[in-house]
Amino acid sequence: MSLSKPIYYFDNNATTRVAPEVVDAMLPFLREFWGNPSSAYAFGAQVHGHVERAREQVAGLIHADPKEVVFTSCGTESNNSAFNSALYMNPGKKHVITTAVEHSANMNFGEYLQKRGHDVTYLPVESDGQLDLHLLEKSIRPDTALVSVMMANNETGVIFPIAEIAALCRSRGVLCHTDAVQVPGKLRIDVKELGVDFLSLSAHKLHAPKGIGMLYIKRRTRFQPYLIGGHQERGRRGGTESVANIVAFGRAAELAQATLEDENTRVRALRDRLEQHILATIPNTVRNGHRDLRLPNTANIAFDFVEAEAVLLLLDQLGICASSGSACTTGSLDPSHVLTAMGLPPMRARGSVRFSLGIYNTDADVDYLCAKLPPIIQRLRDISPLNPDHPDNDKYDIAKARADHEREQAAEKEREVVAV
Ligand SMILES: *Cc1c(COP(=O)(O)O)cnc(C)c1O
Repeated sequence: MSLSKPIYYFDNNATTRVAPEVVDAMLPFLREFWGNPSSAYAFGAQVHGHVERAREQVAGLIHADPKEVVFTSCGTESNNSAFNSALYMNPGKKHVITTAVEHSANMNFGEYLQKRGHDVTYLPVESDGQLDLHLLEKSIRPDTALVSVMMANNETGVIFPIAEIAALCRSRGVLCHTDAVQVPGKLRIDVKELGVDFLSLSAHKLHAPKGIGMLYIKRRTRFQPYLIGGHQERGRRGGTESVANIVAFGRAAELAQATLEDENTRVRALRDRLEQHILATIPNTVRNGHRDLRLPNTANIAFDFVEAEAVLLLLDQLGICASSGSACTTGSLDPSHVLTAMGLPPMRARGSVRFSLGIYNTDADVDYLCAKLPPIIQRLRDISPLNPDHPDNDKYDIAKARADHEREQAAEKEREVVAV
């Protein structure tokens, strides 16, 4: 398999390129040091030290104690494990609170919990993607076991005030989890300042391979393993350690701290230039999500009167990778649940594209995208029945689409009230 043409990668919130330094760090553990870290003989045991070194590196990234770091297979497993443990350890409590804009790892686990007789509150968000903390506070019940709010949203980059939320949870005796998968390398993470009980990361979002994640479990937090097996991870997660991936994660954690500055200056400037260019040169475009309380690398933009899927197809033909919604929901025709929760009409949500940049993006990448995008949008609008300037625009009933959307929203609210 080989790459036939250059790619222009603007989908770093979906996954990231494995850093060459990370590949170098992990290869010896595939080629030579392939022993089992639990083995007693030296060939295995020597590997153990490298796993523990990686644990220190990952702990350093979030200012945790290495003993508070449990390696998992992915961000999804970390999130699921936190929910599972919080409910298992509080058998009298059957309620969890999360938000309507979480990753599918939380959205769908919540649905699964509901089927199993638990109550789940999905907190709504405001039009800029922010949470109403008073509503969060009011939603906490005597039987609430866990509050889980992501630290930053993968679709819009909107940042949530986790320290405040965790303080609120503490004052009410409720466990607090945050999905911080999008944050390393973009914002500083300090679990002591945040005050959460659980925090999830996934290595493939920070230039390490897919299939390795971690769950931070605050010291003295009672924990029920999700994978039950051997005594790996101090009895908190069964299964032989994915040694090469763990070593890779450790190296990537170091790099993420080293590139924080670049991400917040150079990458942020690239993102801003891209966004400003789009908003200034293409009419009927809007930014989705709060302008400032946002990750430095993410731009989510609605292009009215076009379908994002069509935009992405034409970009793909030019080697440009971007996405609509999250990679995990691509292929479904439903508009993004995140943008819908922010109150975007379905047609605007369906015309929204996420560009997420990273440390490997260059000025030339942004120049290329800035040059290619406007004619693509123009071309699609010229043939779009959604376009009010188009002679066939009566084929699409905008008033009906709005009414449908409002009805959906009302139904959603009702479900919310039932859950609260
Ligand atoms: C990617 C992502 C996940 C899932 O991580 P996996 O390692 O792919 O399971 C969870 N939450 C957020 C916010 C993400 O962006």
